[in-house]
Amino acid sequence: MAKKNIDVAYSKLSPFELKNKLISLAKSAVERNMLNAGRGNPNFLATVPRQGFFQLGLFATAESEISFSFIPQGIGGYPEKHNLLDRFEHFIIRNHEKEGVAFLGKALSYVRDQMGLDANLFIQEMSEAILGCNYPTPDRMLTMSEHIIKKYLIQEMGMRGISSDDFDLFAVEGGTAAIAYIFNSLKENHLIKAGDKIAIGSPIFTPYLEIPELNDYELVEIMVEADADKNWQYPEKELRKLEDPSIKAFFLVNPSNPPSVKIDDKSLDILADIIKKHPDLIVLTDDVYGTFADNFRSLFSICPQNTILVYSFSKYFGATGWRLGVIALTKDNILDKKIAHLPRKESAELNKRYSSLSLEPQKIKLIDRMVADSRAVGLNHTAGLSTPQQAQMVLFALFEMMDMQHSYKAMIKTLIRRRHAALYNHLGVPQPDDENSVDYYTLLDLEKISSQLYGKDFSQWIMKTQDPLDILFHIATETGIVLLPGKGFGVLHPSARASLANLYEYQYIAIGKAIRGLADKYYEAYLKAKKK
Ligand SMILES: *Cc1c(COP(=O)(O)O)cnc(C)c1O
Repeated sequence: MAKKNIDVAYSKLSPFELKNKLISLAKSAVERNMLNAGRGNPNFLATVPRQGFFQLGLFATAESEISFSFIPQGIGGYPEKHNLLDRFEHFIIRNHEKEGVAFLGKALSYVRDQMGLDANLFIQEMSEAILGCNYPTPDRMLTMSEHIIKKYLIQEMGMRGISSDDFDLFAVEGGTAAIAYIFNSLKENHLIKAGDKIAIGSPIFTPYLEIPELNDYELVEIMVEADADKNWQYPEKELRKLEDPSIKAFFLVNPSNPPSVKIDDKSLDILADIIKKHPDLIVLTDDVYGTFADNFRSLFSICPQNTILVYSFSKYFGATGWRLGVIALTKDNILDKKIAHLPRKESAELNKRYSSLSLEPQKIKLIDRMVADSRAVGLNHTAGLSTPQQAQMVLFALFEMMDMQHSYKAMIKTLIRRRHAALYNHLGVPQPDDENSVDYYTLLDLEKISSQLYGKDFSQWIMKTQDPLDILFHIATETGIVLLPGKGFGVLHPSARASLANLYEYQYIAIGKAIRGLADKYYEAYLKAKKK
């Protein structure tokens, strides 16, 4: 196993592109099953809110057919609003034993009896939404849906002292769309400009490393490095970099990807202090994994006026194909203030840009500008997330809020934490244990693991003689296991990211054993080399 450099070209690829190459190696070399631990896509999914969705769809289509029932078949109208709630309750009683129907009945009760919303308006909005028979109106988000998702976020993102009146939501096609829309509107509104300094919490989900490098943005990246030896928390010295007034924005993923840990309370306090000293720092936090953490607190709760929050339903509900996410922004935020104080020329240009939307375009909030920008402004009247998507999002959120004993959350956490244990136990090294860890992914640090297995000298030999990318290619060809290189995510140490979300427990056992087997082979090679 001599050091052999993999085609340099591969080292330039994003880990996700590289994954495709690794998959082809793993597939072609191995008759055994390929184990793709490279994917973040979960292999579990919440079934009850989906059953609720389909039942609600049948109710709504039946309602629709009542409207035009003089026409023989297959054509309906809008559901009749009058007494819709009564008919829905009858539907629940009549079909009580069918999957998802009892859930819908409880959801109605929760919305009315717990949240104090108008049950009639809720059923009207949900029935029309699920039929998809109108453009999304309001385009930013349907009214009842927005209210319910806000309550969900307040609960799940650990927001203290923030009420649903304090912020707005924009429903979007998943976290990915959220990120694209935010970058675009920040740029269009001159909130970030070419040449600006942007701080990035690293390691990070690669698109964040790649976007700032796009020619469009020409941003200068300042890395705020989490420390592997501190369980992937940001050292205070790194965080204090953010006090530099020339830094415009801080982008981070919390809990992080790939280290998969949430920012601890001490660092949250430091960040709160930094914001006091640098009050016009824009914070963009992607909290997709927040729902997996214990006692999670988003930065949105720490510095609400500075922060744009991105949340996605993809991971927690196993819903990557649904494309469900939201952008949250407080009503009183520094971004709108920055827009109000732009130089005259830029301000005039923006007023022209948004003049088709309002007689007072200067008063349009950033979050509404994002909606308009998402459809090139001119097509704003058909902007917004498809209404059936909003209906499913609401059912996911209600499912979680109604689960007062947190049994879904406990089950999902147990599932991924058992996989974590299985992997490390069979690899034969201690399972990392940290209260801030979410364990959605795990970073296998090659140096640390080889040292734990066969000592420092072996570990130094492996670092000196083997290319980490070679090792990953080796793992793929010999064992059929696909792991992603940590380096592409900005991890400084040679490491591999394994997702704990997308394979079965027995497969993590196989991964642990296979990597151990490979390590043993390297160890033999090391012993031979030492003899010479
Ligand atoms: C998976 C992931 C996303 C993607 O979310 P979608 O809603 O599926 O687009 C966004 N951010 C991070 C950090 C992720 O890991």
